[in-house]
Amino acid sequence: MTGSNDTVTIAPQVSGEERLQTESRARGVARILVSERRIQDEIAAMAAELDAEYGDDQPLMVGVLTGAVAFMADLMKAMTIPLQIDFMAISSYGAATKSSGVVRILKDLNEEIEGRRLIVVEDIVDSGLTLQYLLEMLKARQPKDIRVVALLKKDKPDAFDVQVDRVGFHIPDEFVIGYGLDYAGQYRNLPYVAVLDPSVYTS
Ligand code: 5GP
Repeated sequence: MTGSNDTVTIAPQVSGEERLQTESRARGVARILVSERRIQDEIAAMAAELDAEYGDDQPLMVGVLTGAVAFMADLMKAMTIPLQIDFMAISSYGAATKSSGVVRILKDLNEEIEGRRLIVVEDIVDSGLTLQYLLEMLKARQPKDIRVVALLKKDKPDAFDVQVDRVGFHIPDEFVIGYGLDYAGQYRNLPYVAVLDPSVYTS
């Protein structure tokens, strides 16, 4: 018999350190940089700000695949106003071609954006090249306005001076994983942002 007699199991609270030692998904994680609790608290604050900013304007949240998936999912659920979502996939060609600004669209938006209020949701701003390209392309389609929210921004003096309206966490210039961000396709399902053990790159 199922239904009203079902019990709900509440997971015990496990510390970050314990997780690193016991979870196979955390194998290779050197240290947690931004904990799950801090991420969720910051998202709640961001969501309240966005609710107040947009009210009944029905903004379109534009997520940048694949890294922004975790952040976008939690942010939109924390917001209480009506909204729509859409996704773009973009690939930047790495350090050798950064200065030439070569960025490729892998998946375009499904929605028309002319006259709409856009919230661009980014996982991490590193050099800023990807975001700069994306914003130029979106602006050419004449949305009413664009706000950029990024979960993470690296402290990098030589980064492009690109529009980022709200940053969750400013982090050191290190390669990070988790909460949507990958290394070789792995680690996206970590609920926190972490630094990878260098042995993972070298082995
Ligand atoms: P940018 O164009 O700002 O240099 O780089 C932006 C993109 O590069 C991000 O959306 C992300 O996909 C990737 N990226 C930049 N820094 C990191 C990092 O530390 N870790 C991971 N996993 N991806 C990163």
